[in-house]
Amino acid sequence: MASKPVILPSAGFAADFMLGRLVKWLRVIGQDVIYGRHLTGWGLIRAARAENRLILTRDHGLKKKQPPPLLFIESDDYREQLRQVIAACGLKPDEQVFSRCLECNTVLEPKDKQAVKSLVPPYVFASQEKFARCPTCKRVYWAATHQEKMLEELRRLKLG
Ligand SMILES: [Zn+2]
Repeated sequence: MASKPVILPSAGFAADFMLGRLVKWLRVIGQDVIYGRHLTGWGLIRAARAENRLILTRDHGLKKKQPPPLLFIESDDYREQLRQVIAACGLKPDEQVFSRCLECNTVLEPKDKQAVKSLVPPYVFASQEKFARCPTCKRVYWAATHQEKMLEELRRLKLG
């Protein structure tokens, strides 16, 4: 990837609504990314500016609107997109994997097994030892098959 490295703002990313799949993967590796239907065009610029976030977009028109710093995403393929962001921002994908809620972007809180007993299916409670919960949307996470598949995919991309 020939893009010049950009400085990762401590405040994280603001992703264009068109980049849903990339957003999910950035959250898998623990990155702080805001995302939503209102985050296109001026809405995206306003939100990024308000929180000093780096914009991720494939929208050529955005450059004409004098946006705050942005990283133009080159590929259509989320794997290439993920590679580009990791390379451009010097991210360390394996450091904070599964530390953030994939749905709402909140940092997860580790939970004692007993504390989630009533919140997870019995077979999960019986077979898992490590749990985390999202304090915002209340989803409970554990090391399930889909997490293994995601880690495998990161390894395939040589990112994990
Ligand atoms: Zn959540």
